[in-house]
Amino acid sequence: VFAAVVQAPEDPILGVTVAYNKDPSPVKVNLGVGAYRTEEGKPLVLNVVRRAEQLLVNDPSRVKEYLPITGLADFNKLSAKLIFGSDSPAIRENRVTTAQCLSGTGSLRVGAEFLAKHYHERTIYIPSPTWGNHTKVFALAGLSVKTYRYYDPGTRGLNFQGLLEDLASAPSGAIVLLHACAHNPTGVDPTLSQWEQIRQLMRSKGLLPFFDSAYQGFASGNLDADAQSVRMFVADGGECLAAQSYAKNMGLYGERVGALSIVCRSADVAVKVESQLKLVIRPMYSNPPIHGASIVATILKDSDMYNEWTIELKAMADRIISMRHQLFEALRAKGTPGDWSHIIKQIGMFTFTGLNKEQVAFMTKEYHIYMTSDGRISMAGLSSRTVPHLVDAIHAAVTG
Ligand code: PMP
Repeated sequence: VFAAVVQAPEDPILGVTVAYNKDPSPVKVNLGVGAYRTEEGKPLVLNVVRRAEQLLVNDPSRVKEYLPITGLADFNKLSAKLIFGSDSPAIRENRVTTAQCLSGTGSLRVGAEFLAKHYHERTIYIPSPTWGNHTKVFALAGLSVKTYRYYDPGTRGLNFQGLLEDLASAPSGAIVLLHACAHNPTGVDPTLSQWEQIRQLMRSKGLLPFFDSAYQGFASGNLDADAQSVRMFVADGGECLAAQSYAKNMGLYGERVGALSIVCRSADVAVKVESQLKLVIRPMYSNPPIHGASIVATILKDSDMYNEWTIELKAMADRIISMRHQLFEALRAKGTPGDWSHIIKQIGMFTFTGLNKEQVAFMTKEYHIYMTSDGRISMAGLSSRTVPHLVDAIHAAVTG
């Protein structure tokens, strides 16, 4: 009965790793992977995560019962505090409802399903370009997906004018997806004063902000700094949604731990919104897994572990920033034609190199360097050892 099913293409991002794994070359480098790697190219489990897991394992009172539909209550409270700030008026006034969801993706999807059912304007504007999964997550939830201009290939920076024009002509009430920090794939973020202009425009038009926060702390090494954009919107008393992921900043990728928060106008509304979130979640996966959320809650509620986390987080962010500088300096030293300063200006895990599809294909074929065809490279996949090989490849691609 399934004979007519056609072969689907590989996921454009995860497919890069599939191709990398098949390549027998000893010099191959995977810059497609969206996960942190050490200087030795290995995945990293944070020390503080190991410590938290030890505590959990050794606690005989811990059982494996189902969590409530919206997840672990402590985790939810601590997650809201982490993104909105411990002094957030919205939290103080009980205007926030938070549900533990399946990492960033699951949080986006639950938020999207809720909006498709309960929000009057079913159009969402996402940046062009954006993380490849956004379109599908929102479209499959039943929202109509449109784009707003974001990246300017000419400057390899923000197309701020285009962004403002597109949001200004969006229908009033439309939902707008915003990357809280470390925009993926471009690494280009608005400045704080640009965020303020975006906020004013969106509030004046009644556009609903939906923040995707997949890199809090991972961009600058500072958890508060990376949440500034979100906090600006919450400070004005208006509504917003925020999807948080602990994949990158706690290295909990496969634990699938994240949270969806909805900031409402009043505590009353927040209670009703939560009741509807439960109706969205229950038939999807009933309730979320317990282990990852317990790790996060253990770390966030203990000041000593929290501090250890921030130190380890900063070390990851700093290594990535240092890779940016090493790559930039090496390209300069080699005299590779072009202005490569965007490598050190861009923020977060990725650099949008500006290399085109043909150049990427050439680098993969001749140098065994793997990346997405849009020229995005993961700085976390790079090390001092692999920088010279990458520079040789880029040099050959742009001069060849
Ligand atoms: N949003 C963005 C912008 C991302 O880059 C990612 C991860 N690549 C996610 C959401 C979701 O990640 P996860 O579901 O693993 O938390």
